[in-house]
Amino acid sequence: MRKTFLSFSPPFLGSEEIAEVIDTLKTDWITTGPKTRQFEAEFADFIGTPAALAVSSATDAMLVGLAALGVQPGDEVITTAMTFCSTVHVIEHLGARPVLVDVEPDTLCIAPGAVERAVTPKTRGVMPVHIYGHPCDMDPLLEMAAARKLFVLEDAAHALPTRYRGRMVGTIGTATAFSFYATKNMTTAEGGMLAGDPDLIAKARMWSLHGMSRDAYKRYSAEGSWFYEVVLPGFKCNMTDINASLGLQQLKKLPQFQERRREVVRQYQAAFGQLPEVQVPVELKGCESAWHIYPLRLNLDMLTIGRNQFIEEMKARNIGTSVHFIPIHLHPYYRDKYGYKPEEFPVAFENYQRLVSLPLHPRLSDEDVTDVIEAVCDVVKTFRR
Ligand SMILES: *Cc1c(COP(=O)(O)O)cnc(C)c1O
Repeated sequence: MRKTFLSFSPPFLGSEEIAEVIDTLKTDWITTGPKTRQFEAEFADFIGTPAALAVSSATDAMLVGLAALGVQPGDEVITTAMTFCSTVHVIEHLGARPVLVDVEPDTLCIAPGAVERAVTPKTRGVMPVHIYGHPCDMDPLLEMAAARKLFVLEDAAHALPTRYRGRMVGTIGTATAFSFYATKNMTTAEGGMLAGDPDLIAKARMWSLHGMSRDAYKRYSAEGSWFYEVVLPGFKCNMTDINASLGLQQLKKLPQFQERRREVVRQYQAAFGQLPEVQVPVELKGCESAWHIYPLRLNLDMLTIGRNQFIEEMKARNIGTSVHFIPIHLHPYYRDKYGYKPEEFPVAFENYQRLVSLPLHPRLSDEDVTDVIEAVCDVVKTFRR
């Protein structure tokens, strides 16, 4: 058995990131400035989006995206029950009503049919979440959105980089939010990016910096002037040049990171595809997952233990795991405010009870991968019915 604990998802930073941060610290410009602008440009280029706005998190990218799209009290926004809480919080923050729907059994991505049934005259838009890095089925969503004049704001916190029928996520919907949180496919410690068309991004930029008509770098640098006007009650979630320094170097490494992720996934699929006690994740035809998460699903009727004890058994074998996610409608705030019952979204609810995410990151050595595989096989063998 493994001697040291294997972390679920540590960051992967090197001397390049350290040097870039030090360079920034020495320039005398540490908050939003030239490095952030450069990171936005290089990120936009990588995705193939016409414009991008760097902010302090994906949560804030979604918040300023919704604000720029004009979401306000009385509006409804449809999203998935199977996501991280902040996808739903941002709708609440603007005083609008989040309308949750169930997911597809294979990918656990939002079910387009369920979205269609949830549309009302108050619906302003849809927020699909490319969960685990696998793209949602965007074509039916886009068709429906176009017919009903809805926006499509994608939560791509897991989906860097992800392709759907040849198109890069970030170039598909009205706008797309990416995350650079410490555990994500690339990191700026904390950070996020909103991709979209230049007009929308310009509006979102104002929302991200106090609703001011000119940003600080333009005001305080040599080319600037003291004058600005406040045109919106904006938020404060601009990215700093220190964070952008990490992003510039991480973005260069992202293709190598992804190659390693796919290698690890190949080994997991080969090993677990043979075990009837578990269900492995799929990558549907025409889709290219970013493989942010490797979600294994336990076939509980073939095991004598549940998911929670499975996680304890993995921990006892020194392997860190996690669960993505506890469905939104089970959390007390949303459950009580909207009166949700657990069975209201049966696919999300049932799969939640059998989900366990295994370590998947580019720092995994071949030995680490073997240790994870051996631990899973050992737990399954010990507790098979
Ligand atoms: C991580 C995550 C977020 C939030 O990202 P932050 O950058 O931490 O705000 C949103 N949605 C999903 C699906 C996530 O996994």
